[in-house]
Amino acid sequence: MMSTNLTTLWEDKLLNRFLKYVSFHSTSEAGVDKTPSTERQWDIAKYIFNELQSIGLENVSIDENGYVMGYIPSTCSEDLPTVGFISHYDTSPDFSGENIKPQIWKNYNGKDLILNERTGFTLKVSEFPELKNHIGETIITTDGTTLLGADDKAGIAEIVTAAEYLIQHPKIKHGRVAIGFTPDEEVGKGADLFDVKKFGAKWAYTVDGGEVGELEFENFNAGAAVISITGKSVHPGSAKRKMINAGLLAVEFSNSMPSNETPATTEGYEGFYHLTKITGNVEKAQLEYIIRDHDFKKYEARKAFMKEVTKKLNSKYGEEIFKIELEDQYFNMREKIEDKMFIIDIAKTAMEMAGVKPNIKAIRGGTDGSKLSYMGLPCPNIFAGGVNFHGPYEFVPLESMIKATKVIIEITQNIY
Ligand SMILES: [Zn+2]
Repeated sequence: MMSTNLTTLWEDKLLNRFLKYVSFHSTSEAGVDKTPSTERQWDIAKYIFNELQSIGLENVSIDENGYVMGYIPSTCSEDLPTVGFISHYDTSPDFSGENIKPQIWKNYNGKDLILNERTGFTLKVSEFPELKNHIGETIITTDGTTLLGADDKAGIAEIVTAAEYLIQHPKIKHGRVAIGFTPDEEVGKGADLFDVKKFGAKWAYTVDGGEVGELEFENFNAGAAVISITGKSVHPGSAKRKMINAGLLAVEFSNSMPSNETPATTEGYEGFYHLTKITGNVEKAQLEYIIRDHDFKKYEARKAFMKEVTKKLNSKYGEEIFKIELEDQYFNMREKIEDKMFIIDIAKTAMEMAGVKPNIKAIRGGTDGSKLSYMGLPCPNIFAGGVNFHGPYEFVPLESMIKATKVIIEITQNIY
């Protein structure tokens, strides 16, 4: 097996493809009851659909929800499993994704980048020291007025360029490759209508991570809790032994939770309770929490603890004053990958072949891959190369995108 060497012709294709995708305004929107959540996402979906056909993929399709799929046929006589690559074409509603004017900084000199002469908007090395890892490279930034959309148009450009490369190099031996692009990942719905059966891959990788080398197959188990408190309002002048102040009880509930298990006091594999909202007056109060833990047993123990606190407080006040509702949101994909660690090993080897040091870490959040893993498609996440997602400081080095493209090509050859 020879390591892939992409010529400048392919580097140019990759860059131009990325710039083309970035020119589409494809911001998604939360709380919309249709898919894609915004009409404008159809423009890029249809563009990619046409592009996949024109570069020679097979069975290219776009469904009624905007999911685009296509296949690279096998070049082997052996019966190899189909491997998939997935990314999303929407951009985050957190910041404007309209009229993006990317700037290309060749041979980056390691200094601050003034992105906008008019506003003085600057990408500072002191604030973003990771810039130093990319001296001498070609950096693509915003002009400070929008996000860039490297999340995840870098992923799409890498997958499509790898696909075109494989189609034009039929001597490279690989099995069938499935590729899929989704809307609405940024509003948590990219996996929901993904047709796993039609996709037909045995497993897949989302190409949606950050810096070079990232490889992720663990994420939080996640749930939500709502605690409703019903008080008793009585005139404060004659309230002795009568008034039950729901607001004060909400504070008491919050004080019964471990103060060192919050997002602000935890990292790595440490789980937490996160009070996301508190509202109330004397009559009524409500606490909203999210619960997170990588370890499923600990996650269940956290839910049990919240029930226990509710019970204790109710027995203290002698009435059903506190009510708790618990809901599971998503689960750690590790459960679905643990017995198929070859999926991770293949990606690790591919990275080494591409000259990239694998950096395995646990996601302190969720991914579409975790949902897909529970839908029957084991799906870890690999890097796409972008940095500072969801805002005007977002940038991506072309060299990182080249490395991701190579890793995708190497993965297809490692399936034996
Ligand atoms: Zn993303």
